[in-house]
Amino acid sequence: MEEAKHFIGNKWVAPAVGETIAVLDPSDGQVFAELARGNAADIDRAVAAARAAYEGSWGHMSAAERGRILARLSMLIAACHDEIAQLEARDTGKPLKQARADAAGIARYFEFYAGAADKLHGETLPYQTGYTVLTIREPHGVTGHIVPWNYPLQIFGRSVAAALAAGNACVVKPAEDACMSILRVAELAAEAGLPEGTLNIVTGYGHEAGAALARHPGIDHISFTGSPATGAAVVKMAADNHVPVTLELGGKSPQIVFADADFDAALPVLVAAIVQNAGQTCSAGSRVLIERDAYEPLLARLSEAFSALRVGPSRLDLDCGPLINAKQQQRVWDFLSDAQHDGIPMAAQGEVVPEAPQAGFYQAPTLLRDVPPAHRLAREEVFGPVLAAMPFENEEEALRLANGTDYGLVAGIWTRDGSRQMRLARRVRSGQVFINNYGAGGGVELPFGGVKHSGHGREKGFEALYGFTVLKTIAIKHG
Ligand code: NAD
Repeated sequence: MEEAKHFIGNKWVAPAVGETIAVLDPSDGQVFAELARGNAADIDRAVAAARAAYEGSWGHMSAAERGRILARLSMLIAACHDEIAQLEARDTGKPLKQARADAAGIARYFEFYAGAADKLHGETLPYQTGYTVLTIREPHGVTGHIVPWNYPLQIFGRSVAAALAAGNACVVKPAEDACMSILRVAELAAEAGLPEGTLNIVTGYGHEAGAALARHPGIDHISFTGSPATGAAVVKMAADNHVPVTLELGGKSPQIVFADADFDAALPVLVAAIVQNAGQTCSAGSRVLIERDAYEPLLARLSEAFSALRVGPSRLDLDCGPLINAKQQQRVWDFLSDAQHDGIPMAAQGEVVPEAPQAGFYQAPTLLRDVPPAHRLAREEVFGPVLAAMPFENEEEALRLANGTDYGLVAGIWTRDGSRQMRLARRVRSGQVFINNYGAGGGVELPFGGVKHSGHGREKGFEALYGFTVLKTIAIKHG
């Protein structure tokens, strides 16, 4: 891997302008690498390389052969598991066990889509007598991927593996805050046999390289994961070229717990769903709605669990690592100071361990209780380890609260009552619903994405493959 270079056409390429971006380790706030600061000229070069691959050997390759290359990449990633996990942990600050899960996750994405590549097909349609009509699924061509910093490996894997399996060539703009692991995987993709230009990575800032990608006329589809504001800006830029965009924009996902739920099963899941990745997870379970009769007993148990949580550098592999950067830390502090100012009680807080370096971006996991439904802590995405608890009286109120934000990504429903499970699952407005569990997005097999401000389009599963193709209808009149 070469520092401060883009990966274009299977080669390390110096940026058009030789500026760099410092890469910080969030665990200690120290610089440990440099990234190339890409601009529109770098994006032009990457898009041209991708177009050449799409019109050349990659575009002409059979689906089975594409699948074989992706399968080789999955195996190479698995063989480099430790190296990739270490890189991810250092770059994002996440505990090593989480980085290991992410490294296993990306290998699984490529494995799944490798197997799916030659199973994607159209249909034949009944039509007028004397006709045969068929549909075929074709790749868009060159797809653009704008990736955030919270799960670089997993989010890169889920969109790029599906796009490649469907036959597209890709240009990726990863996040300036964390993308070292993606550069390493791109290098492995070349080793796996991906023809040059099929996968290109241009690093840099969002308003420079990201915007240049979003508005590039040579891009046929964009996949974006990040904040609602940037997502909307990307859609507007892409609209000038009439380019479709898949958006995954986070949430304020509720976990609804009824008094008849199995608390022993629910408790660790409720905690993990907000503490995982220090709460910097689009599908974090950041609200817990608890039936009134169970409110105090469950809060007591949640408080005990939160008080026992320990936060520290990624290498210590504790419950929680630091936040990604000082800006994100300040954002979480602002939310917490609003809570304090508005008299929202803090039920419990974990501990930042004394070994955590002062210059790291730490925040102890915090449980807030009696959060008023209209307060921003009950409505806005904190993107930190902050859980907002509130009581409800009955099923209708639970639904009203659950559906009462602008978001709709994932919901958890905890009850032993089977009819209630289905009633609520059907009426809650979200892209995924977990019953008596919560999967923070679930595995690669499960389609994932939002409604309302959480975005549109679906990642994962076969559904993602459909999103990375366009359907062509061919009507043959043969008499
Ligand atoms: P962001 O949405 O600005 O960044 C996400 C990606 O978009 C990055 O690669 C970034 O470089 C790129 N980008 C930024 N501006 C762009 C532009 N004008 N054109 C094209 N690409 C652009 O997110 P952020 O500023 O890193 O974080 C802010 C907030 O967004 C967080 O606090 C969190 O609430 C939310 N967020 C959500 C997710 C998620 O998984 N849904 C991920 C990251 C951040």
